[in-house]
Amino acid sequence: MPNIVVVGAGVSGLTTALLLSKDPEYKVTIVAKHMPGDYDIEYTSPWAGANYLPVSNKAGSRWEKNTWPELDRLAKNVPEAGIHFQDAIIYNRKKDFDATTGQWFNELLSATPWFRSTVPNFRLIPSSDLPSFADSGSCFTSICINTAIYLPYLVSQCLVNGVVLKREVLTHISDAASMHHSGSKADVVVNCTGLLASRLGGVMDKSVIPARGQIVVVRNTPGAMFTVSGTDDGEDEVSYIMQRAAGGGTVLGGTYQKGNWESQPCPNTAVRIMKRAVELCPALTNGKGIEGLSVIRHGVGLRPLRKKGVRIESEKIGDVMVVHNYGHGGWGYQGSYGCAEGAKELVDEALKPRAKL
Ligand code: FAD
Repeated sequence: MPNIVVVGAGVSGLTTALLLSKDPEYKVTIVAKHMPGDYDIEYTSPWAGANYLPVSNKAGSRWEKNTWPELDRLAKNVPEAGIHFQDAIIYNRKKDFDATTGQWFNELLSATPWFRSTVPNFRLIPSSDLPSFADSGSCFTSICINTAIYLPYLVSQCLVNGVVLKREVLTHISDAASMHHSGSKADVVVNCTGLLASRLGGVMDKSVIPARGQIVVVRNTPGAMFTVSGTDDGEDEVSYIMQRAAGGGTVLGGTYQKGNWESQPCPNTAVRIMKRAVELCPALTNGKGIEGLSVIRHGVGLRPLRKKGVRIESEKIGDVMVVHNYGHGGWGYQGSYGCAEGAKELVDEALKPRAKL
C-alpha cells in the first residue's frame, strides 16, 4: 500500500488528505507545525471568513467550479461541518476598475461571470435598488464557513479514514518522506505549506508573498453578506461583511496588503473597517454606528498569494516525489476541493508505475 505524507494542516492539507484517504489503497500521514485550534500568523486558514465569492477567470475556473458542489452538499446535509447558505450581495464602483481590489474581484464584478450557472439564484441588482455609491451590483446564494468548526470537522473526517496527524517542523520538504506513521519511507510527499512555501528548504518559492488581511469579528448579525469593489481609504483596503455559521460571529473586513507581514492589528485600520461596515449595512447596529458593534476579537491573517497563481504540480526533489498544492491567495476554501482533486490526480499519476510492478 502506498505511503503518503501530507505537509500542512490548513484547509489545503486537510482537504487533500481527506480525498487521498478515501482511497483504501493509500495510507496517509499529516505532518504540520500548526493544527486546527491554533491561531498563529504563520497559519492562514483559521483567520478566513470564509465564503464562496469566485475570483478566477473562466480559463482558470476549474478549482473553484469543482469545489462548489461539495460546499453545497455540506451546507445542505452536514450541519456538523459548520457551513450555511447566505445571500451574497456584491456592489461595484466603476472607479475601482483598475485598483488592486477591482482587479482581484474582476470576475466577481462582471455582469456575466462564469459562476452564474454554478451558484443558485444569480441575478443582477436593478439600478433602482442600488445604494448611491454603487454603479452596478449582483446577488446570489453563497455559503459561509465557520472555520473554527470546519477545520476540526475536516480533521475528524480524516481520522475516521485512518489518517494519522503528527506535529513536526520541517526545514526541508524531503525530510517529510521519513515521517510516515508506518516507519517506512513515503512514496509521495504532498506540499500544502501555504505561505511558508516561501521559506521551506527544497521549495523556497519566493513568488509566494502575504496579502495581509485585517479583520474584526463581531457578535452583530447583518442578515446577508456584502462586498464592495473598493473603498475610498486606499487601494489596499476592502469592505466586506459575512456572518459565519453556527454562532461563529460576523467577520468585518478588511485589507489586502501585498508583501506586508505585520501580525498585529492596526487600531486605525480597525476603526475604518468598522465604520465602512456600518455604513454598508446600517442594520448591523440598528443605525447606532460603530458604538453599537459588539467586538469578539481583532485579527490578522496572511493570504498565501503566489504571483504566478496556485501551484499544483509534481516535482522530484532529490529522490523524493513531491506534489505541490500551495499559493491559494484569498480563495483557499472556495477552491479547496477542486485543488485537492487536482493534487490527488498527480499523486495517482506518480504512483501509477509502482502499481504496475
Ligand atoms: P495554511 O492554512 O497557512 O496552512 C499551512 C500549513 O502548513 C499549516 O499547518 C502549517 O503549520 C504547515 N506548515 C508550513 N510550513 C511548515 C513546515 N516547515 N513544517 C511543518 N508544517 C508547516 N478563502 C476563501 O476561500 N474564502 C474566503 O472568504 C477567505 N477569506 C479570507 C479572509 C482572510 C482575512 C484571510 C487571511 C484569508 C482568507 N481566505 C479565504 C484565504 C484562505 O484562508 C487561504 O487561501 C487558505 O487558508 C490557505 O490555506 P493553506 O492550507 O494553503 O495554508
